[in-house]
Amino acid sequence: MVPVRSVRGSQPTSTGLGHHCVSPKKARNPRKTQTIVHVPGVSSKRERLLAQMAALMNPQGFQTDAPGSSSAAHSETPMSVNDAISYTYDEQDYDATNDDQHDQQVPCPPPVVREGTGRRLLTDKMAYNLYSAWQTLIPTLVDAHLKYSARTHRQPLTSPHPVISACASQACAQRCFSVICIFFDRFNSIDVLSCKCSTLAQVLVHHGLFPTAPSQPRMAVSVDLLAFYHALFERSCDAVHALASALKTHYARRGFQMINADGQVIQEPFRWGLGQAVQWFDILQTEVK
Ligand SMILES: [Zn+2]
Repeated sequence: MVPVRSVRGSQPTSTGLGHHCVSPKKARNPRKTQTIVHVPGVSSKRERLLAQMAALMNPQGFQTDAPGSSSAAHSETPMSVNDAISYTYDEQDYDATNDDQHDQQVPCPPPVVREGTGRRLLTDKMAYNLYSAWQTLIPTLVDAHLKYSARTHRQPLTSPHPVISACASQACAQRCFSVICIFFDRFNSIDVLSCKCSTLAQVLVHHGLFPTAPSQPRMAVSVDLLAFYHALFERSCDAVHALASALKTHYARRGFQMINADGQVIQEPFRWGLGQAVQWFDILQTEVK
């Protein structure tokens, strides 16, 4: 027993890093260390994982379905199911690239495929076309976006009319598109009239909505929701998936459900579109500055 020394000068000292203390060794219980335990179900789990790995290494028969190949059938007419406002929405339809606005062929580097493995190293043609379509679209939206920002600055937000247009002359021939619009509190279908003097995307941005696809979008997101998300993500992390999921829950609790043609609830109706809108709205804001 070492006596407690009250005077600081009489405390035991050592040079360098001091004394090295270790925990005392304790004999192990052989009943715990020498018994082999068989976890039930581990072999079948291993076989399943090996089969999954083999399927991933050998992707024959795996085919991606092209989003632009499906026919753009307009089917989002509102229908009432169990007191909930629901819209049918085919997830494959949201980027119908068969419109006449951006039909020009874009030169694209051929996809480089590594020998033997069949894996691509560069983006495919469809992704490249989508990217260049956004790139040509963004400069055409700057003016409409600046006007909308100036118009709504220091003003309470109002809901857009169910039929929107931005035609100055009212004389040109108009085409009508049904677009599902995502707001803070709800989503609903809005008829958008495009014409010669303002394209579909310009009409949307003029009324504070941002398209989720560069040509013939079937969904648009409120610019104010995107601006709020932008401010939030400056303070937190980039959480598009969380936003898409939270909006779906919020809408469902308020009685808005997105269903497909068979009447089933769509699991992730907004994730893809919100991701596109967030990314390209950010680029539009950079363009404005
Ligand atoms: Zn016009």
